[in-house]
Amino acid sequence: MADDIDPVALLQRLIRIDTTNPPGNETACVTFVADLLAGIGIDCTVVGLAPGRANLVARVPGAGLAPPLVLQAHADVVPTTGQRWAHPPLGGEIHDGQVWGRGAIDMKGGLAMMLAGLQRLHRDGERPAGDVILTVVADEEAGSHYGAHYLVTEHAHLFDGARYCVGEDGGAGLNLGDDLRLHPIVVAEKRGGWLRATLRGAGGHGSRRRTDTAMTKLAALLSALQSHRLPTHVTPAADRMLQALAKVLPAPLAATMEQLRDERADPGALLAALPDPDAAVYLDSVTRNTANPTIVRTSEKINMIPSEVTVDIDGRILPGGHTLDAFVAEVRALIGDDAEIEVLLEGEPMPDPAFGPFYDLLGTLVEELDPDAVPLPMITPASTDARHFAQLGMACYGWLPMRLPPGSRYHELLHAADERIPVESVRFGAQSLHQLLRRYR
Ligand SMILES: [Zn+2]
Repeated sequence: MADDIDPVALLQRLIRIDTTNPPGNETACVTFVADLLAGIGIDCTVVGLAPGRANLVARVPGAGLAPPLVLQAHADVVPTTGQRWAHPPLGGEIHDGQVWGRGAIDMKGGLAMMLAGLQRLHRDGERPAGDVILTVVADEEAGSHYGAHYLVTEHAHLFDGARYCVGEDGGAGLNLGDDLRLHPIVVAEKRGGWLRATLRGAGGHGSRRRTDTAMTKLAALLSALQSHRLPTHVTPAADRMLQALAKVLPAPLAATMEQLRDERADPGALLAALPDPDAAVYLDSVTRNTANPTIVRTSEKINMIPSEVTVDIDGRILPGGHTLDAFVAEVRALIGDDAEIEVLLEGEPMPDPAFGPFYDLLGTLVEELDPDAVPLPMITPASTDARHFAQLGMACYGWLPMRLPPGSRYHELLHAADERIPVESVRFGAQSLHQLLRRYR
């Protein structure tokens, strides 16, 4: 069947709208989307906390047979400064069957898929079972203060009744077998638990040799954090993912997945045996809380032994019932009692993922559209706007199906130079989103 709605052309146009954050200027993108939706008779509410930082919420009336479904996309993209691109990052050009540009994957590609899905529904005169609420938000890439956070705190009523929410991320980030077409369904996210450790010791003149200093303690702290893991916790979502992987992977890898389900197993040895280092890093990160030291601050004088050193730690806490206190206790057990620990930020708690009929539908749809697909429940170690929408009681999923060619290093393109997405993947995603709108109950 000929298709007059082209998500690829839509994506090209979205990439050309500069929404680099900072400063964002998402209003330009929101206006483009509002005009496009007005063209198919959909009214939008546009709200913003600051000039240029508009957010859009559009409610497409459904038949009242199902609760509202939210599709959430962010309009902003990360900067390209200092990156060397083979094609202009805001050009939206097509080369070698791929759309190139900032946001091609993260996540103007996803927005194009959602918009094309809605356009097709309208073209066919179909009414979804429940209201479809499309929201295009600002500021996801810089903390969501002007975007999702603002929407759910100041305009929560726009999402009344919504039970499910679909947003980024979608491409397979696991290269565990070249023939395997893994379609992630992100069911849970880790949340931030940012800490600051302060170390104190004898200070003084830099000419005097001392070993009882804050620097000595710093060396021990960094070494403890870098060379030891926090305890393994296999959450129900991770367990389900490992089981699913064990079913489809060849025997030796399948056995490794089964062993990783056991919290008493030695993760170091198991992960080292994986063929793909990125997959090992991923599995390592979603089966425990993590604490990465990222910023060290001390005096600025070379001839002075500092009496105080602080280390900022990017901590990430598992979803479900894992608490900040328990995480801090784990870090404490690793670094000892000497450091003073301060909490800089605690991310919104994420509920345990829901594996009900809606989740099943997401898997069924990709299997129907791609007979080789292996739907895979996944946890993302990073966080997206889902953490905000979850606060309104919706079950949130990251589901932007892409059918990427085998061996695609999708995650390496995120926020990097030469971000691009195969034309076919954009079409596949648009088809998936369209089917979701038609089929969800
Ligand atoms: Zn994103």
